[in-house]
Amino acid sequence: MRHPSARPADGADALFGLDALDTGGAPPEGCGSAGHDGSAGRGPADRSLFRDSPAARRLLPVRTVYAEPASAASARGREILARFPDAEVIEVASHWGIPGLHGNEGNVERWVRVKGETLVLGERKTLTTRPNGRSADWIAPGASNGCAMACAYCYVPRRKGYANPVTVFTNIDGILAHLARHIGRQGRKPEPNQCDASAWVYDIGENGDCSVDALISDNTADLVRFFRGWPSAKASFATKFVNPDLLALDPRGRTRVRFSLMPAADSRLLDIRTSPVGDRIAAAADFLDAGYEVHFNLSPVVLRPGWEEAWAEVLRQLDDVLPDRVKRQAACEVIMLTHNRDLHEVNLGWHPRAEDVLWQPALQQGKRSENGALNVRYTQRVKAEAVQTLRGLVAAHAPWLRIRYAF
Ligand code: SF4
Repeated sequence: MRHPSARPADGADALFGLDALDTGGAPPEGCGSAGHDGSAGRGPADRSLFRDSPAARRLLPVRTVYAEPASAASARGREILARFPDAEVIEVASHWGIPGLHGNEGNVERWVRVKGETLVLGERKTLTTRPNGRSADWIAPGASNGCAMACAYCYVPRRKGYANPVTVFTNIDGILAHLARHIGRQGRKPEPNQCDASAWVYDIGENGDCSVDALISDNTADLVRFFRGWPSAKASFATKFVNPDLLALDPRGRTRVRFSLMPAADSRLLDIRTSPVGDRIAAAADFLDAGYEVHFNLSPVVLRPGWEEAWAEVLRQLDDVLPDRVKRQAACEVIMLTHNRDLHEVNLGWHPRAEDVLWQPALQQGKRSENGALNVRYTQRVKAEAVQTLRGLVAAHAPWLRIRYAF
């Protein structure tokens, strides 16, 4: 495979510039820079949306929309198409298996560009809520699948081919109606657990990033507004993108945003197209003040020489930057890296330096998943020691940070 032509000549299609691939360079700039000064951007009083700004249009320059006919004709679909009037709309029978887009590993040379320039509109046919029990009590049927960002370790592309741009599910009303029935059936949460003391927690962003989805449609806004009407339930999503538009949604404490963190050097190497880690930390207070619960995902923890000191630095930064009101309500998840053999092969084609740290056969073991893929995790001994070390680092540098679970 040739590489690394995922880097366009002008970098113009990158959320944060594909100079993110250059780990020696300065942190890339982008819409996350709305929070560089410690304010994540506009407050609720200012209703002009970041997603309508020229900067946001440069970040997500949609040129092609693949659309199922019913999705294109739906209210949400029409809103989205109106937002990208210059995009070519191509009718597809299904949002799955679009020729030349999904499952086309040969597209590796373009797949990062495809993520920014391409959208898919479809309908979520299967509306099921699955039990989880770790990060959340339940995994909600997401309102999207795919992501405009390109983290080198991400499992999302594996499920839908590798150039996996955002598919927006336009039947948001059906998703909300399903959730209302599910939440209604649960009643009150009988006792506290690691997910939450009193609310049933629903992860609404399993297969994408809700903050990026909010650049495209109101699906994330609809979900946040929906959950504020349910005192027995709470939405939760992890994000690596600081979208100031979310500050205006008035979640009233019923949405938990989990900013994913890792050492800045690792993030510049692995979290392609995301907001810089410093921006995510700096945005925490603004999100809390806007009505979100703010937690953190220490994830993925990637073992490489010097990882302990690098994570200590992250935790010291959290301790230095976050105001007490954020610390008082904060909690975190610790998630060790899970990698995958097929993804390893794909990454060698566009970002081989990432594999220098992600692929560590001496520390990892493979396990065949139910769908036949070979997932690769740190061995039990390596993982147990690393989790113990990280717990010690949290205790030493951010003792206020409750670890909800470490996995
Ligand atoms: S932000 Fe999340 S969903 Fe998007 S590429 Fe990164 S890990 Fe995957």
